[in-house]
Amino acid sequence: MKLNRRIFIKSGLGAGVCAMARSHVSAAGPRRESLAQLDKAAAAPVLKIASIKSPVKIASIELLRNQRDFLVRTTSTDGAVGIAVTNSRAAYLYPILQQLIIPFFIGKDARDLESLIDGVYVYRSNYKLSGVALWCCVAWVEFSILDLLGKIMDKSVGELLGGVIRRGIPIYVASGNRHTTPQQEVDILAKHIERTGAGAIKFKVGGRMSNNADSMPGRSEGLIRLVRKALGDKVTIYADANGSYDCRKATEIGKLMQDHNINMFEEPCPLDHLEETKCVADALSIPIAGGEQETSLRRFRWMVHNSAVQIVQPDLHYNGGFIRAIRVARMAAEAGMTVIPHMSGGGVGYVDVLHFASCTPNIGDFHEYKGGLDKTGPWYDPPLRLKNGAINVPTGPGLGITAEANILRDAKVVE
Ligand SMILES: [Mg+2]
Repeated sequence: MKLNRRIFIKSGLGAGVCAMARSHVSAAGPRRESLAQLDKAAAAPVLKIASIKSPVKIASIELLRNQRDFLVRTTSTDGAVGIAVTNSRAAYLYPILQQLIIPFFIGKDARDLESLIDGVYVYRSNYKLSGVALWCCVAWVEFSILDLLGKIMDKSVGELLGGVIRRGIPIYVASGNRHTTPQQEVDILAKHIERTGAGAIKFKVGGRMSNNADSMPGRSEGLIRLVRKALGDKVTIYADANGSYDCRKATEIGKLMQDHNINMFEEPCPLDHLEETKCVADALSIPIAGGEQETSLRRFRWMVHNSAVQIVQPDLHYNGGFIRAIRVARMAAEAGMTVIPHMSGGGVGYVDVLHFASCTPNIGDFHEYKGGLDKTGPWYDPPLRLKNGAINVPTGPGLGITAEANILRDAKVVE
């Protein structure tokens, strides 16, 4: 099934619109967007910071640690401060951050952030390390500079990144299990829904990068057959294979998902096997999601242009920050696709997703939440709360962590 028809059907628009979409596809070929359109969308300026009239010279960027949490603090020569929380990978990626990323930004004007992100990729031949380890470190500096600029403007990062259009973000709960039986797993999913009020859940299929092997014999098929019947028709259900299958097996599993009204099939094939992923997408009507470990805007462009996925999943940390994720989202929008960012573990990854979802027009319906509100919700003012299956977007300047947050109080600089 071709992309446009699938998206129109999924969006619940009327049959007349679907017919129009189909005729548009057949008349104009399988894709509406050209590569030139994608390039133009990706290259357009992102930041809305024209009201800052004087240079914001970066004096220092430091890594701080508070027990298991890491922070990046950027200070301008005028004394403005930006703070960002990293994901858990900072515990072993910090030498890249300190030796290859931070030195490039010192003395630069923070208002040039968009071009600085391109610049740091080439600095000291950093592009030779291209991948999640490099781009995580760039993302943490980008987050802290955005926080600093937001504080200067007294606006949230969503305003800097294009304008806040949503203030509450519906979540899905990902169970993350592969050791449970189908019955145990649907019981766990039902409890998550009861506890959070979430309108959507996600469960794991396959054995994780396992070359078609299941985590337990028959678990995936059994779970797919059971989950819709057990949870009812109102819940949105996502399934994630973490690259478990080749095209043949993923197509077989995906057809079973279609038969049982699963709403999204995430990462059916290994992360870098884009041809196999496209092979699955071409064979099925269920939307295919992917891109969580992708760090190349050109490969995202290929995925979008070739309809290798229908839902694009950049990770805000792994892919180098908000600005690069917005470039991916804009390419996806040209092809009528939605974006559901992947969420990095540790820190406040779910809050980064809240900000991104607050300002991205083609955002998906539900976003990942793995817990953590009890600890990190009070860092924001007003505190973040999960109510009726949605979390409020921070409204404070920058990323919204208050100066009184206890994460900052006892943090020490990592030398
Ligand atoms: Mg995944």
